[in-house]
Amino acid sequence: MLDAFQQSPHQLVEFITAVAAREDGVSAAQAAAELASEEFDAEVGAVIVGDRLEAAVGFGSAPPPAEALCAIRPGLGVADLRGVGIAHVAAAGWDDAPPGRLVVARLDRGFAPEEHILLLGMARGLGLTLRTIEALETERRLRAEHQRQAEELAERQRLLEILLDIQRSISHRKPLREILDAITAGAATLLGVQRVSLVLDDALDPGRPIVARTNSPAGGPAPAGDALVASVHVNGRPAGALVAAPPEGGEFDPADAELLTAFAEHASLALTDAQTLQAMQEAFHDELTGLPNRALFVGRLEQALEAPRAGEREVAVLFVDLDRFKAVNDSIGHAAGDELLRAVAGRILGCLRTGDTAARFGGDEFAVLLEGARSAASAERVADRVIEAVRRPFQIAGKTVLVGASIGIAYGDDGVEGADELLRNADLAMYQAKRDGRGRRATFVPAMLTAVLERVELETALQTAVARGELSVVYQPLVALEDGRPTGVEALLRWTHPTLGTVAPSTFVPIAEDIGAIGEIGRWALDEACARAAAARRRRPWLRMAVNVSAHQVRDPEFPVQVEAVLDRHGLPGDALTLELTETMLVDEHGDALAQMERLKALGVSIALDDFGTGYSALRYLQQFPVDELKIDRSFVAQIGDDPDEGDDAVVRTIVELGRVMGMHTIAEGIETPAQAQRLQALGCRFGQGFLFAAPMPADRLEAWLEQAAPVCRAA
Ligand code: C2E
Ligand code: MG
Ligand code: MG
Repeated sequence: MLDAFQQSPHQLVEFITAVAAREDGVSAAQAAAELASEEFDAEVGAVIVGDRLEAAVGFGSAPPPAEALCAIRPGLGVADLRGVGIAHVAAAGWDDAPPGRLVVARLDRGFAPEEHILLLGMARGLGLTLRTIEALETERRLRAEHQRQAEELAERQRLLEILLDIQRSISHRKPLREILDAITAGAATLLGVQRVSLVLDDALDPGRPIVARTNSPAGGPAPAGDALVASVHVNGRPAGALVAAPPEGGEFDPADAELLTAFAEHASLALTDAQTLQAMQEAFHDELTGLPNRALFVGRLEQALEAPRAGEREVAVLFVDLDRFKAVNDSIGHAAGDELLRAVAGRILGCLRTGDTAARFGGDEFAVLLEGARSAASAERVADRVIEAVRRPFQIAGKTVLVGASIGIAYGDDGVEGADELLRNADLAMYQAKRDGRGRRATFVPAMLTAVLERVELETALQTAVARGELSVVYQPLVALEDGRPTGVEALLRWTHPTLGTVAPSTFVPIAEDIGAIGEIGRWALDEACARAAAARRRRPWLRMAVNVSAHQVRDPEFPVQVEAVLDRHGLPGDALTLELTETMLVDEHGDALAQMERLKALGVSIALDDFGTGYSALRYLQQFPVDELKIDRSFVAQIGDDPDEGDDAVVRTIVELGRVMGMHTIAEGIETPAQAQRLQALGCRFGQGFLFAAPMPADRLEAWLEQAAPVCRAA
């Protein structure tokens, strides 16, 4: 090679560079054959590797005479080459594995020894290139093989870990459902499929197997293709199967069947171990009523949502919650309460068709799944039937018992993601039905969700409103209608939320009641108002402070003590304070309320019934309670126009008369026009409040207002 290099360094370098640039053995050999034939002005160039003709040029489209070319030994000579004729040949070999030869053939003249030396250099160069290429390829192959082995190992390890986990769960006697969940989820992960379901025969409902599904929530129809199935046994008897949905866009690997079988065997083990048919029934049915439980219901709902749908609104969920169950349960005893729940389950079932599913979720919560083509009206009809059925009296333990049902309805429309979302929607609709007055149904609309989200935000912020100083109190004067002079003020709460701004008490007080924050908020408001009253009374000892209190506050046995403490703290006599309660207070649990009010009265405090006429107060309650004032709700005052002959004052007239007969003051709320003030006075109503006199104002403006309205001290 050194010789050749010295003789024709340029050609040789070019040759080796060009050949070495090729990426695989075949094209390197092809390049060598072409370059060599050009270099020597030869008709034929060929490369033989081992005993095989690797590349040949000079034969046009005809097949090269492989046998004759392979027979040419290293050195110079003559050969008969089909397609070319008898030619001078030169061949040079290399020994590196794989050994081979570079051959050139020329018709018109033989090869000189220098040319042979150059050819030898080229051959060695080619040999070197081929060896390098082969070494690289071997390494690439080895690397790929390693990688594959490593992946296989990792996969095996993952399988073993998952199975080991499941075995541990079985031996630790984890709850059956947890184990089955782990099995389906594990199988789905390793198979790389969206869903694996464990389908078990249901002895209670042989027509419909139980689906204990766990991994990924339902989303649209399953991919096309055949499912993979492995049977599951309990005590050696067939009990169901583990079913893997086909993988996304394809078929299963042959090894997948074995894998699924491994999981199916674990499922068999777990089921057998759990003494299972029994345990399985328990895992998927409500013990008390025998209805499917939430897990089974959700499984069926998911299946229903996945089934190909011809149109919308084919899956409907009714969320049923009993009204007053807690009170009934407390009064008839828990054993009778259980009996009542069983009876309710029976009535609900009586309203359904075969194919519908009724489930008990726990407590007094039931759910119904309606499947198959049906119009919205028909789900609503089923809900109405259930409401009617549950409303009929029950005979329990020799007593007649009355409960009701509130029902939320939600449909599996296209927008619904899965079972959980649909159930939540039905649940929200049920709460709406409760708010609408119980014993009703409501159908989910997205605004219900928005309302809840906003409410959740308000609830969170309200918990800390007092601590953060976001609450304040404004004051609205109460006046004598005859001369417009103030007799007192009403304290009204305000909440300034850091981002939402001012939130009205009609919005946040009910929320504060629900989340149990009204006690703290109410105490704060009472204290604030009494502090203000004490300050204002230094110059106007006749001034009374009216403070709104919620029924929740009054029911607290500590409330009278708190009021007394606040009065003491601010040095106020009891008659400086009026507590404004709503009528509902009288109707709800009036036995306790009466005692509470008497304790308050004993402090000298007055009691006003706020928003009178809008609630349910029965007259006999009104008579029993120590009420001092009736505040005529502003909706009745607003009806009063200019014309005394209109008859638009019937309610106001009645309330004033009622107050007169019962010996109670009447105070009209929301007076906005002089005409209203005059008519009210003519009807015999002596006191009022409203924008006509003054709107609610912050504490720092109250003093100035009082100064211009009642400059001199006077007696009440
Ligand atoms: P309410 O006790 O009946 O208070 C009267 C409401 O009527 C006040 O609304 C007042 O601003 C408004 N108002 C007064 N004059 C007029 C008028 O001429 N026209 C009209 N359209 N409205 C008038 P506000 O302040 O929004 O309070 C609403 C309700 O929130 C109160 O009704 C009361 O039930 C409750 N509330 C207010 N403060 C408290 C509190 O400290 N504790 C509790 N538990 N409830 C409170
Ligand atoms: Mg009030
Ligand atoms: Mg009112």
